[in-house]
Amino acid sequence: MSTEVVATAAISAEQPQSPSAPTQQNTVTKVNLLGMSRPQLEKFFEDIGEKKFRAGQVMKWIHQFFVTDFAEMTNISGKLREKLDKLCEIKAPEVVHKNYSKDGTRKWVFRVGEGDGSLVETVLIPAEHRSGLRRTLCISSQVGCALDCSFCSTGKQGFQRDLTPDEIIGQLWVANYSYMEDVPVADRERSVTNVVMMGMGEPLLNYDAVLSSMRIMLDDFAYGMSKRRVTLSTSGVVPKIDQLVKDIDVALAISLHAPNDELRNELVPINKKYPLEQLIAACQRYIAKDGNESSRKHVTIEYVMLDGVNDHPEHAQQMIKLLKNLPSKINLIPFNPFPHAPYGRSSRNRIISFQKTLSDAGFVCTIRQTRGDDIDAACGQLVGQVADRTRRAEQWKKKVAQQNEIMRSQG
Ligand code: SF4
Repeated sequence: MSTEVVATAAISAEQPQSPSAPTQQNTVTKVNLLGMSRPQLEKFFEDIGEKKFRAGQVMKWIHQFFVTDFAEMTNISGKLREKLDKLCEIKAPEVVHKNYSKDGTRKWVFRVGEGDGSLVETVLIPAEHRSGLRRTLCISSQVGCALDCSFCSTGKQGFQRDLTPDEIIGQLWVANYSYMEDVPVADRERSVTNVVMMGMGEPLLNYDAVLSSMRIMLDDFAYGMSKRRVTLSTSGVVPKIDQLVKDIDVALAISLHAPNDELRNELVPINKKYPLEQLIAACQRYIAKDGNESSRKHVTIEYVMLDGVNDHPEHAQQMIKLLKNLPSKINLIPFNPFPHAPYGRSSRNRIISFQKTLSDAGFVCTIRQTRGDDIDAACGQLVGQVADRTRRAEQWKKKVAQQNEIMRSQG
């Protein structure tokens, strides 16, 4: 498939919630296979009178060889390929903007939904690791977010809607495909090594779609990712953390950002509903459920460093106390200010001293490297800029239309 096809592919506006064979009245709407898990695909094939093992074959073509044209699926009979072509499609969300940094960081802005649609972004961050090059993709789960964390540019947009499974897994598909565009189908392989559900939105508030997408990530017929390499990051929706532990085995990260309830109520308002005591207990249950699973040996704690707000030595001491019974790794994130942000980034010295306090207390504590500076680093910023450009384009269109109208009326 050409880049142009990726760039102009429109998302089907009528995604079936529970995919099934098209009905008589629904023959014009093709079913998008991209976001279907294996059980859903198996049911789909049975519903159209085919053997369910076809699901595995088609999944491999879609997610391992990045094929969107049924004609290229050479281990499937010509008759079935024709049938699939009539009934189905494989459509990734539309890429409206992409930017590849000199340091290897890649960013995409996708348009999802009908008409002008809504914008979501995805970021891929490469890093050298002792096991080799890691390419970590930060995936969005919602358009905007209802939780309104005070340091977050996405929260400022408000909540628009949940992403569908094909819009979620489509971000991973596009990121992988971006390395394979010029590679012959037979030689294609997956390039993204790690996924974090940490982009726009709260993934646990779009639970079913996120769960279904993560199952596709882990499926050997699709991306076959290791459980340790798929991380769900939440701001702390406690009941859903308990649900997650029953449904899937992936790594868990918590957007903590404050070590006491008073401050966290302000920075991460969902804390008023699920305060720290409940959140830490849920994390302990998450780890205890399957203590031997490597994906559940610890929880990752994310902590954005806000100048003069949560970066005092006493906050580090409170962290030590809060996390003393929770196996955790702490990731300090230098704040990326956005326009009208009410906070600034903590100084380098402050961040290093905060890290030292936690490391001296025995925690593994890292500082996230700032990447992709030349393509606008922070989550939500790129969408803001594209949206701004879109608004300006809209205003420009209106102005041209008004001028045309004036010229017409003047004969
Ligand atoms: S930090 Fe996450 S949960 Fe909070 S507003 Fe931003 S996207 Fe939503």
